[in-house]
Amino acid sequence: MNKHIQELVSRYGNKVVENRRYLHAHPELSFQEEKTARWIRDALIKAGIPMLEGISGNSTVGYLKGERPGPSIGLRADIDALGLVEENKLPYKSITPGVMHGCGHDAHTAVLLAVAEILAAHRELIKGTVYFVFEQAEEFLPGGAVQLVKDGIMDKIDYMFAIHVDAENPVGTIDIEEGSRFAAVGTYDFKITGKGGHGGFPHTANNPLLPISHLISSLNLIPALKCDPLANCTITVSYLHCGIDGVANVIPEKAVMGGCVRALDTHLRDFMMSEVERLGRAVCAAYNCDIEVSTVYGYPAVVNNGNCVALMADAADELGITRLHVPPRLGAEDFSYFAEKKPSAIAWFGLADPSGTHEPTPHHSPKFYLSDEDGLPLALMYMLTVYCKACERFH
Ligand SMILES: [Zn+2]
Ligand SMILES: [Zn+2]
Repeated sequence: MNKHIQELVSRYGNKVVENRRYLHAHPELSFQEEKTARWIRDALIKAGIPMLEGISGNSTVGYLKGERPGPSIGLRADIDALGLVEENKLPYKSITPGVMHGCGHDAHTAVLLAVAEILAAHRELIKGTVYFVFEQAEEFLPGGAVQLVKDGIMDKIDYMFAIHVDAENPVGTIDIEEGSRFAAVGTYDFKITGKGGHGGFPHTANNPLLPISHLISSLNLIPALKCDPLANCTITVSYLHCGIDGVANVIPEKAVMGGCVRALDTHLRDFMMSEVERLGRAVCAAYNCDIEVSTVYGYPAVVNNGNCVALMADAADELGITRLHVPPRLGAEDFSYFAEKKPSAIAWFGLADPSGTHEPTPHHSPKFYLSDEDGLPLALMYMLTVYCKACERFH
């Protein structure tokens, strides 16, 4: 099987790199991926791959049925880019002002399209049904995955797999682990109203900065004292606006503060969010200020299924890809919505330059760089291997 897949990938040639570079040059922001979606749909039509009806927005789900019975496997790529000004000097640099594929979703899209095109030409490899899920807006709440779930794709799909490229680890490495891998996130926003007044007459006013100064320290006591010390969680105060710069003798009337909550466990995130709200209200009441609370419960934690992880790990071993054992991260990924419904797993697939000529770059950086010529054919081979293994192992 390995040799056959290798041959299919080499016959596919450089197209996966060319497609990734085309997408890289033409990035679109989350929920605005109209041209990218059209490009994907045109390619699927050309390859003779039908698409599911009733999929919302710029997401697209192609599918192929095999002649042999088997499982319904979903393979997922996200398609959106970020609001960044690219600083790389590359021939395929972004030509859309202020927008850049700075997380590698261009690579995900190119690899998944290549898998789809190869399977369309080699249907003998398909057992059951394979779904190619091109998801809009992974980067921007509420994310594209939650709508795909509402559109019913997880009623059809039994197992979902994905890779996310990793610009910090070299080609030939992978991070695939069982359990909680990415955080559940939430945001809060407090609008606090006191009573404005003269600095010389504080007793006639009610400064909203007083509850805020208290809240900044007490919010941070939630992870420290209200959560299991062995749990992984954090609260950030990210913004605070009050008063006018340099106006020293006026007590302000209003203040705004907010930030985010992250935990590796979705229930813990929910608990922390309710504590943040409770504390905000209680502290403002203590200082006799009014408070308006807005909260957003974002993506749940990504929990990788053990059987899916074992399969993805075996596929990596078969291709000689080194498994890194990276601790979970408090970043977020809306792949979690699929994994909540059916056994699923997502791996981080090394795409930093193995020769060291290009320094590894962080994700969401204007210098974000992928060693695509080395890494994308391997990523393609990997996803095909994962798919074929899933057909062997799952029914
Ligand atoms: Zn990202
Ligand atoms: Zn991403």
